[in-house]
Amino acid sequence: MIHMKNVSKRYDNGSIALSNINIDINKGEFVFIVGPSGAGKSTFIKMIFREVLPTEGELIVNGRNTLAMSASDVPYLRRGLGIIFQDYRLLPEKTVYENVAFAMQVIEAPRREMQKRVNSVLDLVGLNDKLKSFPSQLSGGEQQRVAIARAIVNNPMIVIADEPTGNLDPETSWDIMRIFERINKSGTTIVMATHDKTIVDTMKKRVIAIENGRIIRDEVKGAYGYED
Ligand code: ADP
Ligand code: ADP
Repeated sequence: MIHMKNVSKRYDNGSIALSNINIDINKGEFVFIVGPSGAGKSTFIKMIFREVLPTEGELIVNGRNTLAMSASDVPYLRRGLGIIFQDYRLLPEKTVYENVAFAMQVIEAPRREMQKRVNSVLDLVGLNDKLKSFPSQLSGGEQQRVAIARAIVNNPMIVIADEPTGNLDPETSWDIMRIFERINKSGTTIVMATHDKTIVDTMKKRVIAIENGRIIRDEVKGAYGYED
């Protein structure tokens, strides 16, 4: 699914965010990316959806070489990915239903199929009673559930999440993690950067720890490994 070979990233200001990363993430895996602030976690995540390009190495995502592709191929790469951020990034002028449907309109899905699928993913995240609400009328946890519905509506192979529970209280964070588990059980690969020690230690998934731009730990049933 994700293959990184000798991947490094140096930003234009000279800052080296990642050095010589070698990693394979396979179909159906659930992977936590952990490490201190500034370690390179966001850069790692952003490279997967080609928001950031490696300065060296090889990066293949869903069989696509992100360094060799042209700008016009990027939307096809991203169709295979569901991307979730800490700050939800919903469209404020659209309702819950419209936020999710919009992701399918963009790929020109047939109307009937779209209605069925949007209702089904909003059911999965438990928001069928909020279809007509606007993001500003929802709690943080509800907004994140809309963002998850939007991320999975086109059946991505991989869900990528950067600190998805970073703005949520512990109980709400667990609601979100239970949804991720359900998505993962259906075969979708999940890669999630997080600072949530309790979640990582409880879920016992693969843990990749990054420090100073290098992978210092890669464990099958890993722990968070930091005290913060
Ligand atoms: P994390 O997500 O683990 O906090 P980041 O990937 O955001 O780490 O950052 C890794 C390093 O790269 C840090 O030293 C950071 O200052 C630097 N960095 C991140 N983004 C940029 C950028 N756009 N320009 C220059 N340096 C950056
Ligand atoms: P939390 O307790 O997680 O902070 P809120 O107090 O923000 O959640 O919201 C509790 C419930 O009230 C949620 O179901 C939310 O959708 C609903 N709600 C909050 N603000 C509004 C609003 N302005 N209009 C309609 N419903 C709202």
